[in-house]
Amino acid sequence: LFLSFEGIDGSGKSTQARMLADRLRAEGREVVLTREPGGSPGAEEIRRLVLEGDPDRWSAECELLLFTAARRDHLERLIRPALARGATVICDRFADSTRMYQGLSRADLRAQVDALHDMMIGIEPDRTFLIDMDPETGLARALGRQGAEERFESFGAEMQARMRAGFLALAKEAPGRFRVIDGDRAAEAVAQDVWAALP
Ligand code: C5P
Repeated sequence: LFLSFEGIDGSGKSTQARMLADRLRAEGREVVLTREPGGSPGAEEIRRLVLEGDPDRWSAECELLLFTAARRDHLERLIRPALARGATVICDRFADSTRMYQGLSRADLRAQVDALHDMMIGIEPDRTFLIDMDPETGLARALGRQGAEERFESFGAEMQARMRAGFLALAKEAPGRFRVIDGDRAAEAVAQDVWAALP
């Protein structure tokens, strides 16, 4: 079973991914909890290349290629082997984040994102939980977090709002796969809804 969590920065998706992993493990399931960008040694190296340092180092197109390479490595080294042995994989961000961040936020590259996905990735989660969150609240949470990456501090409230709308539109494109969860509540209440929305 392949599950992903998506949402804007500060939506609480990483907390939810962890809570779901804990609950599934408590039931005796093997769970591989992972994240993107990153999740395998090679992909973590690419994460550093892209997210640390000068945000204008890469063009939008190069950034898309780097994220795609990272995802491919993650898939080859971690996700596919785990699924093949019957583990449940929970991924904190997957291709939908690329559809949003590389496909929408920096440039209008959605067609290229989709083409590369078909060519090089070719897998979608069985279920994607979109943790929906008011952009102002999300931003405040994200900025208040220790070790917040420089990168998103440049993301203003307006960008957060655009990303939220983009994610909701994406959820409408694939209603069978997505479940939109109201993230503006206590973590336990959100986790309850996530649990009820498992495939
Ligand atoms: O989910 P996480 O907080 O680890 O994401 C780190 C940063 O990478 C975020 O600021 C997010 O906006 C950015 N990101 C991105 N493109 C992706 C995935 C994440 O720019 N495909």
